[in-house]
Amino acid sequence: MEIRRYVQGNHIVTTYILDIGGTRIAIDPGPPNSTPPIEADYVLCTHIHNDHCGSAGHLGKPVYAHERYIRHLADPSRLWQATRDTLGSIADLFGEPKPARDVRPLRDGDRLFDAIDVYFTPGHAPHHVMFYFRDEGVLFTGDGAGIYVPEIGVIFPTTPPPFRYDLYVESLRKVASIGASKLCFPHFACTEDVDLLKVHEEQIKAWREAALAVKGRGGGPEDLLAELRRVDENAAKAAEKGGLFYSFFVWQTLVGLLQSA
Ligand SMILES: [Zn+2]
Repeated sequence: MEIRRYVQGNHIVTTYILDIGGTRIAIDPGPPNSTPPIEADYVLCTHIHNDHCGSAGHLGKPVYAHERYIRHLADPSRLWQATRDTLGSIADLFGEPKPARDVRPLRDGDRLFDAIDVYFTPGHAPHHVMFYFRDEGVLFTGDGAGIYVPEIGVIFPTTPPPFRYDLYVESLRKVASIGASKLCFPHFACTEDVDLLKVHEEQIKAWREAALAVKGRGGGPEDLLAELRRVDENAAKAAEKGGLFYSFFVWQTLVGLLQSA
């Protein structure tokens, strides 16, 4: 089941709810202020960024996240401060996380509920993981394979600071070899076009090169966007969507790419 979750009319995340033998498992429950509400027995977070996992504590159910970062779910105060420092007023729009009472560690290679395989996939964030629902061949990509917006036919990277290009590409290659038959992106939909993983690998290479070139001549995020619009129509379409989509997703990507270049 897919639940599109909104903040002030903006589609921020799609939460996927799997029913495994009557147990409901929510993947990436979204930010605290997102609606509509969801119901689940367990929560899985691809990573602890607020737009994915911020509402985990509000749900009052066991939450799984990367083993080295679960402390930030049990006590989100430092994470919240960092989120506000990075996102400013957008952080308040998304809402403040509550402490999660039952946090459980994910390790690379774990199998959960006898059905879901865990792949550590750093790069977007050091604690990023992907989930593979083996029975149905579905890979839940988190933010490790870009943002997919079928309404406007766009895929583009989400690379907020501190982005790690080398780890990101390594992670993409690792999951491309699993042989998934379907990809589900929290931003914002699923597709059976699994070649998107390869397309995206070429894309992130090109965006990285653009960032190196722009940084080399002392340019900022606007200069990088101008360059990307020239070389990739995905960038042009994403930028034209405007609003929170631009000020959150596109802007964080530009800043992270430049910082890491
Ligand atoms: Zn993220």
